[in-house]
Amino acid sequence: MKIIDYMNRYDYEQLVFCCDTRVGLSAIIAIHDTTLGPALGGARMWPYQSEEEAILDALRLGRAMTYKSSAAGLNLGGGKTVIIGDPNKDKSPGLFRSLGKFIESLNGRYITTEDVGTTVGDMQYIRTETTHVTGLPLAWGSSGDPSPLTGFGVYQGMKACAREVFGSDSLRDRTVAIQGVGKVGSHLAGHLREEGAKIIATDVNEEAARRAKQEFGATVVKPDEIYDVECDILSPCALGGVLNDETIPRLKCQIVAGGANNQLAEDEHGDLLQKRGILYAPDYIVNAGGVINISVELTGYNAGQARAQTAEIYHTMERVIALAKAEQISTAKVADRIAEENIEQARKSKRIYLKR
Ligand code: NAD
Repeated sequence: MKIIDYMNRYDYEQLVFCCDTRVGLSAIIAIHDTTLGPALGGARMWPYQSEEEAILDALRLGRAMTYKSSAAGLNLGGGKTVIIGDPNKDKSPGLFRSLGKFIESLNGRYITTEDVGTTVGDMQYIRTETTHVTGLPLAWGSSGDPSPLTGFGVYQGMKACAREVFGSDSLRDRTVAIQGVGKVGSHLAGHLREEGAKIIATDVNEEAARRAKQEFGATVVKPDEIYDVECDILSPCALGGVLNDETIPRLKCQIVAGGANNQLAEDEHGDLLQKRGILYAPDYIVNAGGVINISVELTGYNAGQARAQTAEIYHTMERVIALAKAEQISTAKVADRIAEENIEQARKSKRIYLKR
């Protein structure tokens, strides 16, 4: 992989390698774009099989954060940290403190929070070394775990899609297949259950699948079977790359709307879903609740405001659908264009300001 070529192709600003052998830290921070504000994105801990896999994940996830914040109208850029390691075995206070020191050295260009494999507790260790960390405990005046609002936002976006496809945004008696019932998947399942939707769930973690059955009355299927189940809506809430050449032809749903980042393996898979007549809710449009929550924290946290702003995802999704229909292009392309236009506008206004 030619890293600098890749960074130039997608306009990345910076890639930082963080190593500390004393605590076993190997991490990568990718800063994609800071036009709209500091790059914000979570710290993911995952047992990556190779350095290349970790670098690519950091780069792709960081860029997705730029698009997510921009499309949500936030004054934030995009970035991401990946820590190479097994979150069940390799965590220590020292590891997160060390990562905190590296984040501090970036002087506020990058702000972190929790992601897959990390928790509010881990962020507390990072906080001992830097103030550039969010998603700390509510008792600290912070916004806490972002996943409840992420789940709520996905639910709102899903309802907007249902209104388009089924003529009503009620999800009562609709069947929703959730891939990954972790933090986001469970919060989403809670809203769906409350509204009377039927839930099919899968998870590679058997305990999580068992909980979904118990708490939400979900019908549990094996991980690979989720692409073949008859359902109204498929909701990917695990990892990225799940919508690809192999899985899209298998889908038996009318809507895909989930919380996972980078669901499309490649950009063209958005077109493939459109060709199959499946309405795709662009991941970063509907999973923006977490980052919206954090953006509210940065100006003084107010839970009501965060929830109201997240509920707006319904209308953002409606706008994406309307533009896609009017222009006969995929929802994924529309979302990218909205995000890119916001950044370009900010760049232009900065240029005008500098000329003065
Ligand atoms: P999580 O680790 O709590 O949950 C993910 C779940 O998916 C776990 O239970 C895991 O066992 C399961 N899983 C992993 N691979 C799977 C597979 N192949 N098949 C089925 N299940 C599988 O993480 P989370 O915080 O719920 O995040 C889920 C996704 O949402 C991630 O892609 C994350 O980047 C994205 N996201 C999360 C937030 C947030 O607020 N937490 C915000 C925006 C986006």
